[in-house]
Amino acid sequence: MRTVIIGGGFAGLSALKVHDSLLIDERDYFTLTHRLVDVFRIGNPDVAKMPYQGKTIKGRVRSVDFRRKKVVTDLGSFDYDKLLISCGYSQKVIPNTYKIETVEDALALHEKVRGVRKVAILGGGLLGVELASASREMGKEVYLIEGGNRLLNFMTTESSNFALRELNDMGVHVILNEKVEGIEGNKVKTNDMEIESDVVISSIGFKGSSLIQELGLTNINGRMLVDEYLRSVDYDDVFGAGDSATTKKFVPMSAQVAVQAGKTAMMNMIGDSEEPFQYKQYAVIAKVNGKYFGDLMGRFVKGRLAEMAEKVGIARAVMLLK
Ligand SMILES: Cc1cc2nc3c(=O)[nH]c(=O)nc-3n(C[C@H](O)[C@H](O)[C@H](O)COP(=O)(O)OP(=O)(O)OC[C@H]3O[C@@H](n4cnc5c(N)ncnc54)[C@H](O)[C@@H]3O)c2cc1C
Repeated sequence: MRTVIIGGGFAGLSALKVHDSLLIDERDYFTLTHRLVDVFRIGNPDVAKMPYQGKTIKGRVRSVDFRRKKVVTDLGSFDYDKLLISCGYSQKVIPNTYKIETVEDALALHEKVRGVRKVAILGGGLLGVELASASREMGKEVYLIEGGNRLLNFMTTESSNFALRELNDMGVHVILNEKVEGIEGNKVKTNDMEIESDVVISSIGFKGSSLIQELGLTNINGRMLVDEYLRSVDYDDVFGAGDSATTKKFVPMSAQVAVQAGKTAMMNMIGDSEEPFQYKQYAVIAKVNGKYFGDLMGRFVKGRLAEMAEKVGIARAVMLLK
């Protein structure tokens, strides 16, 4: 049986571990997204790039002929019997803001921010909080604007409070309960204030890769809709995993969940099992002001335990490439 995987990220590589397949990716390296903020802070792309070492065919997928079972890339087309689509996320674009989706984005943003004084960051989630800390470490005047009444609103209140305290200590201007209405020139306009800034970075809103909509697949928020076995609702021989797929019940966009989904999808795809997808979110760890903290199995942790949890997560990602 010819199995093809589109996308060699967390989900695709985890699926490849289960069953030898043709893996197609537009890059020749795996992106360790946990390190993108470090690329932004220090301007070194190598900390987030991990070469595939011959595991993939490098090519950009342009389309899929689902009737003839062919994946069409810029290098030619590849036949499949079963297909796994795991092409990841994209960021919702807010006009006049910078995004940080790829290593190239992080590097370009590093160069941009180096030459300015004031930085505004939209969104107080994990990425926004880490970017605020990193920008401050680069010596910038930083505004972090969040629409809700706390940072990291999907984490424990201890994590939210820890992040706020550390950012305040660093001198970051954290602005809560402000809805951004638009960016005009060098001003961020919210419901009742204007914040001047040289660079505005958006860390609001992730969706599925644009490829999902280009392929014409049924989707929610750009994520292909799959059933509980991670099978496409449109085609029986196509499966989805990771950020580019979701069941009707929301599946979180996280590396840990993507790894679990990749494994289940491939096992179901090759017929080794017929397992409904269930996931566990073990740890959500952040680094602010040089300090690790976060939620481990739903409980707040900081210091060495948090750092260890982060390192275990990264070590697991590295193992995917072995
Ligand atoms: C800045 C940042 C920091 C993050 N930090 C964390 C964290 O600390 N912890 C955590 O759990 N999660 C984190 N995440 C989320 C995590 O990275 C994603 O949930 C995870 O990458 C999803 O894995 P995936 O396999 O679905 O997609 P990805 O890992 O994005 O892999 C998708 C792959 O598909 C390839 N691809 C896409 N389109 C095409 C195409 N047309 N043709 C060929 N190849 C294609 C891409 O090159 C990529 O290699 C972070 C995300 C970002 C953006």
